[in-house]
Amino acid sequence: MTIFTKYFTKLTADQTPQSQPLPGTSQVPNSAGAYAWKVDDWMRLDRFLVLGTEGGTYYTSEKELTLANAAALKRALEADGLRVVQRVADVSDAGRAPKNDPAIFALAMAAKLGDDATRKAAYAALPTVCRTGTHLLHFVAYAKLFGGWGRGLRTAVARWFNGKPAKDLAYQLVKYQQRDGWSTRDLLRLAHPRAASPSHDRLFHWVVKGALEGEVDPALALIAAYEQAKSATTIDEIVTLIRDARLPREAVPTQWLRETAVWDALLPAMPVTAILRNLGTMSKIGLLTTGSAAADFVARKLGDEPTLRGARIHPIAVLAALTTYRSGRGAKSDATWTPVGKVIDALDAAFYQTFRAIEPTGKRTMLALDVSGSMSGGQVAGVPGLTPRVASAAMALITAATEANHGFVGFSTQLIELAISPRQRLDDVITTVSGLPFAGTDCALPMTWALAQRRDIDVFVVYTDSETWAGSTHPSIALRKYREKTGIAAKLIVVGMTSNGFTIADPDDAGMLDVVGFDTAAPAVMADFSRA
Ligand code: CA
Repeated sequence: MTIFTKYFTKLTADQTPQSQPLPGTSQVPNSAGAYAWKVDDWMRLDRFLVLGTEGGTYYTSEKELTLANAAALKRALEADGLRVVQRVADVSDAGRAPKNDPAIFALAMAAKLGDDATRKAAYAALPTVCRTGTHLLHFVAYAKLFGGWGRGLRTAVARWFNGKPAKDLAYQLVKYQQRDGWSTRDLLRLAHPRAASPSHDRLFHWVVKGALEGEVDPALALIAAYEQAKSATTIDEIVTLIRDARLPREAVPTQWLRETAVWDALLPAMPVTAILRNLGTMSKIGLLTTGSAAADFVARKLGDEPTLRGARIHPIAVLAALTTYRSGRGAKSDATWTPVGKVIDALDAAFYQTFRAIEPTGKRTMLALDVSGSMSGGQVAGVPGLTPRVASAAMALITAATEANHGFVGFSTQLIELAISPRQRLDDVITTVSGLPFAGTDCALPMTWALAQRRDIDVFVVYTDSETWAGSTHPSIALRKYREKTGIAAKLIVVGMTSNGFTIADPDDAGMLDVVGFDTAAPAVMADFSRA
């Protein structure tokens, strides 16, 4: 590069508004009609796995977004199918995504459309990704979208049933009998596994024929209790069955689920995911009340990190439970209850615990939330009311909680400093961010503002959909200008908040990084990048 090419290129780049592509780069039009970079299919896969496509985005319908992600997934499968399977299994197994459904879909696509090695790997990963009966039923429904019951699918499903110890399998079979038009009976009839043990044989027989036959089998005690529960006539009878056989809620006939004593019996063995989903019901029914033993139990359970980790509780699940429970009314029903303060506090604390612990970097960090209009479209992981803008604030609190040297700003076509802090309750922060005015988008603002205000920033973290259009400078250029003028080797981390295909991070600049919002592994990756 001579002085002429250097300065003239720079001059042109400096003068390029976001509505024009930066000269000499691979920028593409984003959905807002301005220019950004396209993320590669691997980043797109990560966004799909973690954020899903439910609800679409401000610019894209749910259908378009889903089809676009499926197309990217197909390209990734063609490029390196084994890498896709490995990625899907890693994200699913580590509980990095709020919902397992995108992983199951991706695995089904790999199993049906991949090359031989990919299909084999996908079926081998089936028990890792599809851990419950409901996962398996979804997998089969998705696999059927891409082809029939081949030998591969039959063998894998048969192996899934035989691979679980009979006692665990009994639990899955009692809990999940049908989903998506498929029942476990259909699966057993089609896969026709040769039972791995006499207990498995009796279980398969029970599923297919509806009768428990043969001698009394301790591995099948749950099934026997489930059958007995169907004809129970008194509360005592049902409560005893729940306590002795640890019957899950799904195995209790509906008419008993109005009884406090029944929920009281269910609670000790209730998985944390079920606790999170049933907080409102348990308060409504009079079990989970202020000062109750149940409130202590729930708070203790939510405060136990190994339990949360073992159950792969995702921060979004905690956030969704917190938002619904605190509101005192069902998201999808007309149920109402009086929320218990202790439970709300426990949920707030659990939110931070569900991210992996990170070491503070000590870097001067700006947490910049894109609060433009487009960030209020769509919903993260299909959670009602959880827009990308609200989710950004929650995600940013995680970094704020570890990095003492942070500041919050919100930007659209203006930038304002936000007085929010991880010491506030999560739901208060969300209320603050929800109340900010909507406007256009200029993702360069965090950098141009910091330069104008003489703020020393090592790391700009921008939570955005990268649908930027209003600025007279591209964000990557604004960052370079900031570095030049301040002498600080500032970095930019783009936290992608939708599963679209864009980023403001220049892929050719090692000081810019893309991560996926609400990937529980992201804060650690961000800290490592900031530290380097
Ligand atoms: Ca926008």
